[in-house]
Amino acid sequence: MNKIPLLDLTQQYKGIRNEVRDAIDRVLESGHYILGPETKALEAEIAEYCGVKHAIGVGNGTDALQLALDAAGVKAGDEVITTPFTFFASAEVVSQLKATPVFVDIDPKTYNLDVEQLKKAITPKTKAIIPVHIFGQPAQMDEIMELADQHDIFVLEDAAQAIGSEYKGKRIGSWGHAATFSFFPTKNLGGYGDGGMIVTNDDELAAKLRILRVHGSSPKYYHSMIGYNSRLDEIQAAALRIKLRHLDDWNNARAEKAAYYNKKLAELPVVTPFHAEDRKHIYHLYNVQTEDREGLMAHLKENGIASGIYYPLPLHLQEVYKDLGYKKGDMPNAETISQKIFALPLYPELSEETIDHIVAVVRNYFE
Ligand SMILES: *Cc1c(COP(=O)(O)O)cnc(C)c1O
Repeated sequence: MNKIPLLDLTQQYKGIRNEVRDAIDRVLESGHYILGPETKALEAEIAEYCGVKHAIGVGNGTDALQLALDAAGVKAGDEVITTPFTFFASAEVVSQLKATPVFVDIDPKTYNLDVEQLKKAITPKTKAIIPVHIFGQPAQMDEIMELADQHDIFVLEDAAQAIGSEYKGKRIGSWGHAATFSFFPTKNLGGYGDGGMIVTNDDELAAKLRILRVHGSSPKYYHSMIGYNSRLDEIQAAALRIKLRHLDDWNNARAEKAAYYNKKLAELPVVTPFHAEDRKHIYHLYNVQTEDREGLMAHLKENGIASGIYYPLPLHLQEVYKDLGYKKGDMPNAETISQKIFALPLYPELSEETIDHIVAVVRNYFE
């Protein structure tokens, strides 16, 4: 067998090559390259897809988080609660705004914020909560919103890994006061470069975000706030519009492959992803847990199968956050899981034969 990558974007491209080339060519011919008609159309399409009023295209998923928090008024002295089991950006943006990230341990099944722990972490300084729908599995949004409303706290969904997933029949992105997406190439809806978006039902917040992304100016050269240079370009927007039409099919294919893996791996000493009945999980990554992760990953590599660790060190133990005062043992679930978890190859075009082969190599390791 040929080498098996964790994700193969070239196969996806083969299926949409002509559509994408035509779309990009249209942009090149138009002479309009940043924040033009393609961005506007993509914003409308994503807003409709999520069932919200507004969508604002920005430079990347990290900027989307930061602009949303900034627009919501997060500032020095505020506390923002999030999970330690996420990509660094979820907390980094809090620090960029000189606010303090407060970490809360995760539920060991869903890997998302543990709502009971979250309750205990709220203080009078809590300005915002950032639930991260990690790996495409939605967080418990109804309980989080109820809690936030009681305390008048802003909720920003970090949906970078979860576009198209649903919680209790309602799309992710429409639960929080705002939500953000990343169009980094490896995400379920990925561009051919960087891109990001914020969605919200809040008219005032949306208007502010549209000003913030262009240096705080409206009209041009008249500045009412200190803003950012964070814009979506037309080539990305045009390509993303093509891909958005395929997103549900791709997400469903990922979920089918994940279910197939679950079935095949059932007899082996690995913990497969938890699937809650009330959620649609879009499997941004297919992660399993095992006791001897390093040994199994080395065995897979010897057999030409890629795997990866998401994420090896929880954020409360990162060197840059040592001044926050957390220590080992503070977040036992995140700490234990980050020692055992790793991702197997998963993408919509992955065949069942290839999964059979991967599982055979895994089985062979335990035998
Ligand atoms: C990818 C990702 C981001 C950042 O998105 P970029 O577009 O790379 O800036 C933020 N949060 C999570 C959970 C992510 O997976």
